[in-house]
Amino acid sequence: MVSRVIPVSSFDLVIFGGTGDLARRKILPGLYRRFSAGQMPENSRIIGAARGDLDDDGYRKMVADAIKEFVPKDRQDKATIDGFIDHLSYVPIDARGDRGWKDLAKLVRKDVVQAFYFSVGPGLFGDLAERLHSFGIASEMSRIVVEKPFGRDLASAKSLNAVLAESFDESQIYRIDHYLGKETVQNLMAVRFANVLFEPLWNAQYIDHVQITVAETVSVEGRGAYYDKSGAMRDMVQNHLMQLLCLTAMEPPSMFEPDAVRDEKLKVIRALDPVPTTNIVRGQYGPDGDDLGYIDHSENPDSTTESFIAMKVDISNWRWKGTPFYLRTGKRLKARMSEIVIHFKETPHSIFEEDAGSHANVLTIRLQPDEGMDLRVTIKEPGPGGMRLVDVPLDMTFADALGPSAEDVPDAYERLIMDVIRGNQTLFMRGDEVEAAWAWTDPIIEEWQARNERPVNYEPGSSGPEDALMLLHRDGRKWGEVR
Ligand code: NAD
Repeated sequence: MVSRVIPVSSFDLVIFGGTGDLARRKILPGLYRRFSAGQMPENSRIIGAARGDLDDDGYRKMVADAIKEFVPKDRQDKATIDGFIDHLSYVPIDARGDRGWKDLAKLVRKDVVQAFYFSVGPGLFGDLAERLHSFGIASEMSRIVVEKPFGRDLASAKSLNAVLAESFDESQIYRIDHYLGKETVQNLMAVRFANVLFEPLWNAQYIDHVQITVAETVSVEGRGAYYDKSGAMRDMVQNHLMQLLCLTAMEPPSMFEPDAVRDEKLKVIRALDPVPTTNIVRGQYGPDGDDLGYIDHSENPDSTTESFIAMKVDISNWRWKGTPFYLRTGKRLKARMSEIVIHFKETPHSIFEEDAGSHANVLTIRLQPDEGMDLRVTIKEPGPGGMRLVDVPLDMTFADALGPSAEDVPDAYERLIMDVIRGNQTLFMRGDEVEAAWAWTDPIIEEWQARNERPVNYEPGSSGPEDALMLLHRDGRKWGEVR
């Protein structure tokens, strides 16, 4: 297979917060991998900018250590690491003061793509945006990358958007949701819009319901104070699960082009029905033997923050009326897995005898682990004994189907950073999308606050609270296993 990689032009990438956890764990290892794949043009540069007092050599050492820690061993190569860190420099900077800005202005070139990654808390976005202009660093060609959390409600998201809009045009702002950078998520669009098989069936007439699960095994240990102000709804549903829902439910865009795709996603968010509390289950994991429970991790004995949520969401439009989307996410669950599962309806009439069994097709789109897709189809069980039906998977695990080329699939951060350099916003959230998602989320959270209800307890290492199972049982349906 001939792989076609769209080249990137030379760039200066400034990472504000370049010594932080996100930069060390994701951004810099991701850039190293693109460098080792030959995708970083020779005269491109990466400039770390943060509060710490480092010089260039100190920063290069820090980044080399981060690569050794966070890049798989078989992808590490001393000569490549040395080659990569040659592209690095560092500027100590204060986002809120004057320190470092003149030095940065001298370093950043005007004749190459300039990208500024705001890998700092959102409280600093406005300071950075303003100084990039007042020190004459940013130009019309600059791009800025911002991280979640993008606000904690509609009002704060609007004010963040307004702060950024004072200095940058929407076409220069890249709001990252790393779920959108996953190979399978883009494959969902390929499967839907590049095959004739699925799209005619992709509606309430043929799809019974959709399940979207993002399950994590980790607890909130170490970030309990932050998480306690957020909870699963703000931390996961408003952004990641919402984006997956949008890509599954949206109408075909006229072109695979940023605003065409984002317009269609926005229409889905605007068509979401308000969710009654009876269609939501909130959970909090308890302690287990020596393992602490959520309350201990959050350090707030009265915390009513949810570490798990399951909800039934209805979309009021022609395509989806009557086909619910069930969303589920939580911490400290049995397994780490993310998937979108499309449950098709049974055939309208079975020509086989009743004991042949009744079956329905299921399309599973796995984001992690083992990115891939699997379509369950019904066939005759081989052998004698009459017509008995069985479900078998048509498996499309990318690593198996595509061979070695699948191993070179960039991870979400690598792909998204390269898209910033290419100037392609398709996989980034637009400001109005983020605001629409908060407008849908806010009343749900406000109602919980008004009721001050405690989430139900669930056992760590389980699939979540019993009530979440009931949410589907009462509709005659069943969650896929968390495995
Ligand atoms: P961190 O606390 O580890 O690092 C913060 C960085 O910002 C440091 O490099 C620090 O020097 C710099 N900084 C802080 N105040 C500054 C100032 N006044 N001037 C200049 N630099 C300053 O944080 P992190 O975990 O790397 O997270 C960065 C951002 O990314 C946050 O908004 C976070 O919510 C978001 N995020 C992080 C992760 C993650 O996995 N760590 C995941 C998603 C989103």
